[in-house]
Amino acid sequence: MTQEWQAGRLDSDLHGVGFDTLAVRAGQRRTPEGEHGEALFTSSSYVFRSAAEAAAVFAGEQPGNVYSRYTNPTVRTFEERIAALEGAEQAVATASGMAAILAMVMSLCSAGDHVLVSRSVFGATVSLFDKYFKRFGVQVDYVPLTDLQAWRDALRDNTRLLFVESPSNPLAELVDIAALAEIAHAGGAWLAVDNCFCTPVLQKPLALGADIVIHSATKFIDGQGRCLGGVVAGRAEQMKEVVGFLRTAGPTLSPFNAWVFLKGLETLRLRMQAHCAAAQQLAEWLEQQPQVEHVYYAGLPSHPQHALACRQQTGFGAVVSFEVRGGKAAAWRCVDATRMISITANLGDSKTTITHPASTTHGRLSAEDRQRAGISDGLLRIAVGLEDIADIQADLARGLAQV
Ligand SMILES: *Cc1c(COP(=O)(O)O)cnc(C)c1O
Repeated sequence: MTQEWQAGRLDSDLHGVGFDTLAVRAGQRRTPEGEHGEALFTSSSYVFRSAAEAAAVFAGEQPGNVYSRYTNPTVRTFEERIAALEGAEQAVATASGMAAILAMVMSLCSAGDHVLVSRSVFGATVSLFDKYFKRFGVQVDYVPLTDLQAWRDALRDNTRLLFVESPSNPLAELVDIAALAEIAHAGGAWLAVDNCFCTPVLQKPLALGADIVIHSATKFIDGQGRCLGGVVAGRAEQMKEVVGFLRTAGPTLSPFNAWVFLKGLETLRLRMQAHCAAAQQLAEWLEQQPQVEHVYYAGLPSHPQHALACRQQTGFGAVVSFEVRGGKAAAWRCVDATRMISITANLGDSKTTITHPASTTHGRLSAEDRQRAGISDGLLRIAVGLEDIADIQADLARGLAQV
């Protein structure tokens, strides 16, 4: 039936088309209804024409859906579109970004394996490794993101996986992904990159040499703060293991969320370009403000890794962090004096958000760990949305006036 609709149409053969075309069309399968938009399949199970057909599909001798914990057509469209955009052989969708990391480690690592994790990863990622994976015998060490020699030195014979976020949250530190991939491969390990902050619009980790890409689709892929979801993407042999874990353990993506993300992907480049342009303007403006001690944004020539960011990314993202003079009290006054910007730790939304990392996202760290991570009491993080930049700036100016 798919052939019936698509034979002779470009949708059936998207080889060689550009990124924007893939973002709009990759993975779509039309039903006999001839719908233009992607169909949303809300079905937990699937029917067969006969007992023999059921047996053949269950046995994997004939293609077909069995149960939505295994496969779902809307989820598959989302997976194929992400794989096309990241340049991966296969992508596997998960219930959240954390479920993506869980599925990756559970399917690719075993007790006795050693994993190296960047010190500057998402807080829940650290908890997942420290509180849970360690309990099941996975050895975990943390390495400063930017220090390639430290990564080399930390490798062991049993190191299986290196895991990073670049750029990091909230300080926008980068690692040279190509160089780190070489280090991983020389040690017989895989490099996995959480590409949540850049999305494939701004950075393609697999093209740089990484083996696996992780996403929290909750952020920019949705782009409007509606749904939770995640993705793991990489080579087919690895993804086969991830699929095996997911269909057994169950943290699969809801078809409704996949459908929302498909709509998000269609506008991803336009949104990322708007986020980046506004964030750049805001970062440059913040650097001029007397109450601001330091601005962390890789698009600024003052950023120590600006050259690497220009080489590795095609844009610098939506997240701008800055330090105000006067520590926590001043930072809180700044937050409380804004009237429009949302006070929330989420990001990747069309609404601009502000957060005080030391008392929220990084509040559970000890004061020493926070200091080591560079999260000072005066640090604020903005995830720039899609409102008028003049209004975002005016709101922050109100905040800064109280610093
Ligand atoms: C939000 C986030 C996650 C976790 O994703 P969820 O969808 O909230 O589970 C992982 N990594 C990064 C970088 C994130 O920002």
